[in-house]
Amino acid sequence: MKRMSRRAMLLLPLLAVILLGMTIFLIRYAVSADEWVVFPGSPHVYSGGNMSTGVITDRHGEVPLDATSGRAYTADPELRRATMHILGDRYGYISAPVLSAYTDEMIGFSKLTGLHRVLDVPKQARLTISAKAQKVAQAALLGRRGTIGVYNYETGEILCAVTAPTYDPDDMPDVQSDSTGAYEGVFVNRFFQTTYVPGSIFKIVTTAAALEELPDAMTRNFYCEGSCQIGADTIKCNGTHYTQTLQQALANSCNVAFAQLSVELGKDVMARYAKKLGITDSLRFDGIVTPAGHFDLTSAADSELAWSGIGQYTDMVNPCQFLSVMGAIAGGGEGAEPYLMKSVTGTYQAKTKSRSVGLSEETCRILTEYMRNNVVTMYGQWQFPDLYVCAKSGTAEVGPDETPHATFSGFIRDANYPLAFIVIVENGGSGSATCAPIAGQVLRACCEAMDAERS
Ligand SMILES: [Zn+2]
Repeated sequence: MKRMSRRAMLLLPLLAVILLGMTIFLIRYAVSADEWVVFPGSPHVYSGGNMSTGVITDRHGEVPLDATSGRAYTADPELRRATMHILGDRYGYISAPVLSAYTDEMIGFSKLTGLHRVLDVPKQARLTISAKAQKVAQAALLGRRGTIGVYNYETGEILCAVTAPTYDPDDMPDVQSDSTGAYEGVFVNRFFQTTYVPGSIFKIVTTAAALEELPDAMTRNFYCEGSCQIGADTIKCNGTHYTQTLQQALANSCNVAFAQLSVELGKDVMARYAKKLGITDSLRFDGIVTPAGHFDLTSAADSELAWSGIGQYTDMVNPCQFLSVMGAIAGGGEGAEPYLMKSVTGTYQAKTKSRSVGLSEETCRILTEYMRNNVVTMYGQWQFPDLYVCAKSGTAEVGPDETPHATFSGFIRDANYPLAFIVIVENGGSGSATCAPIAGQVLRACCEAMDAERS
């Protein structure tokens, strides 16, 4: 009896260790089971490096990828090329965070019953993109590098997000040994994963700060004789604009007026507005984390502060983030956060989340009026038949021997088509000349997609 109890005493610590082990396992199971099931390389879920489970459709039910068993892309090569950066390729060179983020919902994994997709009908994941708008946008880039995004600023649905260069996932080119530069940065999704020098589209941010911080901003005159001296630097303008109001200076995209405004507003105010509008934040949705933009005036001289308000200096913006800023201005200071996954049958339904950028409704109304004036007086309403487009163009200097990037961003002010957009063509030259016709084509395709849902 004495010996027995000594043995029992010896077993107690062992029992305690086993119990502790079980407890740790159960806690870790509860916390991480979903991750264990979908770990990269899990044969239940992946083929190659990308998720392979369920049918992926566009907003209208068109199927660019059937991944119920392996990855069967659509028979339409244009759609394959235009959606590859969202859906991923076969080999894992290009990942599909939006599909990885919904793997649990797609495969029907439950912590109590485990995997049960095999018993079910394949799930359907419906994305917010329009297959047609994707194709129109990809074609409109005419093989140039760049990115185009359009989203509904009332719901948050991204109707179009293309990036170029791209390739056909069913006919992958030899990217490694290409020496023409045609595939430069092809593995990167430029819309979600990069930042760009914004150029003059950033003048919208400077205008917003001026409208809210300078009481006479709307009534004062600016004078441009082609250049001005700030500190040791000469700020050159794209023309000679003489006397102009703030509205005219924005339409002229006058560097002189915006250089003077930026210096008058000062580092703190400029930095506060870049922060307030979210330029320096990341967006997080559907497994995507956009890189934060850059706006840092810590060691900027006056001339550099001037260039920063013109969208140069060290300014960088992420296209998707900038798109959401346009959405918020269009929405009177509050816009929906963008997203890509609309629903997964039976398990997930997207909800609209809105984000305020801290601008007053009045500021947004005036910005809208100014950006509308840009279209009417500078870019040409004929580029956007029947659409009430408000926009700003940019020609972003990216290096002494390089053609500037063409940038163009804005929104439609119309209850039927609440769409914001951004178009960037790398080394595309003039923002309005290169990008406005592209924006026109892509917006039309998106409006048609919305019309199709109403009829
Ligand atoms: Zn000027």
